[in-house]
Amino acid sequence: ANGQKIAVVTGANRGLGLEISRQLAARGVHVVMTARDPEKGAAACERLRSESLSVEFLPLDVTDVKSIETLAETMGKKFSGIDILVNNAGILPEGRGARVLTLSPEVFRQAFETNTLGPLRLCQALVPLMKKRGGGRIVNVSSGLGQLAEMGAGTPAYRLSKTALNALTRILAAELAGDRIKVNAACPGWVRTDMGGPNAARSVEEGADTPVWLALLPEDGPTGGFFRDRRPIPW
Ligand code: NDP
Repeated sequence: ANGQKIAVVTGANRGLGLEISRQLAARGVHVVMTARDPEKGAAACERLRSESLSVEFLPLDVTDVKSIETLAETMGKKFSGIDILVNNAGILPEGRGARVLTLSPEVFRQAFETNTLGPLRLCQALVPLMKKRGGGRIVNVSSGLGQLAEMGAGTPAYRLSKTALNALTRILAAELAGDRIKVNAACPGWVRTDMGGPNAARSVEEGADTPVWLALLPEDGPTGGFFRDRRPIPW
């Protein structure tokens, strides 16, 4: 992998994570596909390898501190650093009918553990490896449901966790401004995955486009932004 950019993608076994991995590898990046289920993760990785793409699999549960530590250690031993982190893994733990006044705080906690604290912990563990490369790109796969500008009723745990992920994006971008590390959030649009369902407007190929674009931003690209269709959108 000499001279090749190294990326880590979370939740890479299906949906947007799998397609983001495919598109990054197709652009010449070596992609470390991670997933919490080793069998599903290895099978997804084999799929891309059979397309002659430069990928490998490492296990990672983004809610498990030990798992994150192990990944960071392995990455540190295998590679001289990393260039790209795509925080894609996410859950929508509540039903469509959930309302903020009646949903159990336990469900809010689950959403935060995966959608907000997962990305935070991964940044804490992997940014040191990015600094070793003298820069990098962090992409947080967020959602329009987390936009304060358009906040509405329903899916309260998911919305809160993604709004907080957006805030994390801004804080990190500010703290890393001097380190040549760009941090941005992406909304993929409504995408046909297990989460988005079969009636969603977009294919995974379309949904992965903006996250991949942000992962490959040139030096003069933006940081601390929120994008859909490669264009800034309101927070
Ligand atoms: P899917 O439900 O299809 O896939 C979710 C992925 O996240 C799976 O790989 C899943 O792994 C993984 N994951 C969940 N929890 C963990 C964990 N604790 N550790 C590691 N991996 C985990 O969803 P999408 O592909 O649609 O969603 C990807 C991202 O895009 C999410 O952050 C989502 O919020 C966001 N998004 C999606 C939209 C859509 O319309 N689809 C719209 C807006 C945003 P496993 O297979 O083991 O469950």
